[in-house]
Amino acid sequence: MSLMSCQKENTQTFNYVVDEFADMQILRYQVPNIESLSTKQKELIYYLSEAALHGRDILYDQNGTYNLSIRRLFETLYENFDGDKESKDFVAFETYLKRVWVSNGIHHHYAGDKFIPNFSKNFLETEINKLTADEWKKIELTKEYVVETIFPVIFDPQVAPKRIVQDSGVDLLAASSCNYYSGVTQAEAEAFYATKKNNSDSCPILYGLNSKLVKENKNLKEVTYKIDGLYSSAIEKIVYWLQKAATVAENDAQKSVIKELIDFYHTGDLKTFDNYSILWVKDTASHIDFVNGFIETYGDPLGLKASWESIVNFKNTEATKRTEIISSNAQWFEDNSPIENRFKKEEVKGISAKVINVAMLAGDCYPTTPIGINLPNSNWIRAVHGSKSVTIENITSAYDKAAQGNGFTEEFVWSEAEINLINQYGFVTDNLHTDLHECLGHGSGKLLKGVDADALKAYGATIEETRADLFGLYFMADEKMIELGLLPSKEAYKAQYYKYFMNGLMTQLVRIELGKNIEESHMRNRQLITRWVFEKAKKDNSIELKQRNGKTFVVINNYEKTRQYIGELLAEIQRIKSTGDYKAAHDLVENYAVKIDLELHKQVLERYKKLNIAPYKGFVNPIYRPIFDENGKFIDLKIDYSENYVEQHLRYSKDYSNLPTIN
Ligand code: ZN
Repeated sequence: MSLMSCQKENTQTFNYVVDEFADMQILRYQVPNIESLSTKQKELIYYLSEAALHGRDILYDQNGTYNLSIRRLFETLYENFDGDKESKDFVAFETYLKRVWVSNGIHHHYAGDKFIPNFSKNFLETEINKLTADEWKKIELTKEYVVETIFPVIFDPQVAPKRIVQDSGVDLLAASSCNYYSGVTQAEAEAFYATKKNNSDSCPILYGLNSKLVKENKNLKEVTYKIDGLYSSAIEKIVYWLQKAATVAENDAQKSVIKELIDFYHTGDLKTFDNYSILWVKDTASHIDFVNGFIETYGDPLGLKASWESIVNFKNTEATKRTEIISSNAQWFEDNSPIENRFKKEEVKGISAKVINVAMLAGDCYPTTPIGINLPNSNWIRAVHGSKSVTIENITSAYDKAAQGNGFTEEFVWSEAEINLINQYGFVTDNLHTDLHECLGHGSGKLLKGVDADALKAYGATIEETRADLFGLYFMADEKMIELGLLPSKEAYKAQYYKYFMNGLMTQLVRIELGKNIEESHMRNRQLITRWVFEKAKKDNSIELKQRNGKTFVVINNYEKTRQYIGELLAEIQRIKSTGDYKAAHDLVENYAVKIDLELHKQVLERYKKLNIAPYKGFVNPIYRPIFDENGKFIDLKIDYSENYVEQHLRYSKDYSNLPTIN
């Protein structure tokens, strides 16, 4: 599970900002203390980073059938262009390409809607007419194919309008243009996986995780992502660099993690993937760590199939003390959670939590990235072996630094008192909320015996994120926080409560186009929590939406009462999860999380627009330059922060282009 970076409605100091276009701001992150790693550790970082970057094309193809075609065509046109670079068409074309890089495809990375091209068809036609036969060959496309097939994908709003659709009442697979299924209806896919499941299996694999489900001669068939399977040419490169990484692993435990992953990439066997996950979760001694594989299922409307991602990181030793305090008290939190006793874990196992700095982001973690990660996602492995949870501090720090002085707080926060709270406690409570969400929230509670882990179907992801967020919010206000030294004052949690309600009820809407619904699970979770609590809290005036000069503000009059409602909702959400109550999940999400108050939305967008802040952030990675001695032995790793956004993507497309254009 990952916690997206949405609590941060941020920007800007000069040094951190690399590029700005459309609704995006691209930042640069620093990698503190990388120079203090040993030579062998640096060598490991380098190999794992190469393994990360070599998977780049996989996500483009998973996100949509035509993404690689469009990216390669547009990059070639972009590099060849010798006309007026100030012209309206070219500027719009360049923005479109930059957005494709952000989204690893032609649909918005967050909202899922297809980009509207602001350049003319005529411009594109003129440019493709300049391509030589060699250039066409190189991008493995023909002009006929582009005009007949790709043009409608770009220009016709009816073709592939959404990457992922989660509205109820439609065939989700027919409506979604992501590339995890081909020629298969939702009912067929659900039936296919229902027959595979055996509810008495106490260690079920994650069915369907690493394959595309296709229909061939009326039969359904999984095409597996593996060497000699789908995406083989990219996976072979990943494995090549993982093999090098295994030779410089920090210890035997880490070496066997890498070897098991290599084995999984060879066979595609999900039992091997479970074994790998278990080894990975048990390796808590290594300083350097990584994620590399088919991990998160947010991109599949049925929540089964995982997108490819990779993160390479190492421990931030100082900040990790904070998460160690939290995880060593995990049982206390479980015992004191406001949920029914029958849903509690008798014994909370092996929650390991740390604060990390990322050294490389790739696949579905690039260029937009989570700020916290909790893995593995397999429920039974979490219950039996525990999970590993991280907060990514060099990313949260980049957000925080880039946000100072952008006017956002002044525009949306009710009064000086709340502004002071946020200035004083905003950063520390944001990090703490992420820690609680990831270290404890996702790991708490249990399913009743016989309850299918996928019982909540399309609502599962939203309910799970809701649960983790509520857990963090509930305990943040507990005196235990002061006792454990995690918060400096009894007032501190109010900064998080205020920001959370302001965000969930109002300001997160800046990410949604007027008239649209909320689709993304984390956004749905935040609106679910704040709308549900507000509905209760407005009756006794604990929370108000107040008007001043025609502007709406959140005012929290009674923080203790607000916490009480948060506890009530947590108990209900846990009941839904533990008993697999699909109907209740459906009702809560549809009633609270999806629809938006149109008038309020309009107002928020207008106020936000005046501030001129990009609502989404992405990142560029540093460049790592390995230094070898005359015998080819690795002696050092130099880090280079100078690359800009366009340079980075064009370089990645040259050095890490591993898949055929059409797969
Ligand atoms: Zn989460």
